[in-house]
Amino acid sequence: MARQDETPAHGPVRTCIGCRQRAAKRELVRVTAGSDANGHPAVVPDPTATTPGRGAHLHPTSECYDLAVRRKAFTRALRLEGGLPATPVGEYLDSLTVIDPPRNRSNSS
Ligand SMILES: [Zn+2]
Repeated sequence: MARQDETPAHGPVRTCIGCRQRAAKRELVRVTAGSDANGHPAVVPDPTATTPGRGAHLHPTSECYDLAVRRKAFTRALRLEGGLPATPVGEYLDSLTVIDPPRNRSNSS
């Protein structure tokens, strides 16, 4: 019997800062404190998990993002003083929900 519902697969497990459930690290997206497109401090996604420093993890869903924003979980998990906007993370998650992106290269030149 290959029942593995509750058993995490191989690899590290992290807690989602939105729904507070544990999940395999590769199912979660890492976020860190960084800068948004305009150079302002913000919470940014780190899908490749290469940014050094303190990171937090959450499910790449708008539900968990909303939960995390509402409980100021980004601020707490990243030990940020005063809090940072997590807009870049929201935008990143929005881009993920596009299932079949059209072939337009939206260069804003
Ligand atoms: Zn979650």
